[in-house]
Amino acid sequence: MEERPVEQCPFCTADLIGEKIPYSLRERYSPPYFSRLKIGIYNRKLDMITHWQCPFCKGVWERK
Ligand SMILES: [Zn+2]
Repeated sequence: MEERPVEQCPFCTADLIGEKIPYSLRERYSPPYFSRLKIGIYNRKLDMITHWQCPFCKGVWERK
């Protein structure tokens, strides 16, 4: 059994780990094969994702 990762929004504690990705679609994703519900906020100047946003409460926190 694959272990389900734990990730929660720091503001509303919503579960940010999505559904298990169907086996047929797994090639496109890297392990552990769960979709991520959080939204990456891209900083063009730094050319990287610097913050995450919760899709439920719209809270933004810094990427670690
Ligand atoms: Zn939230």
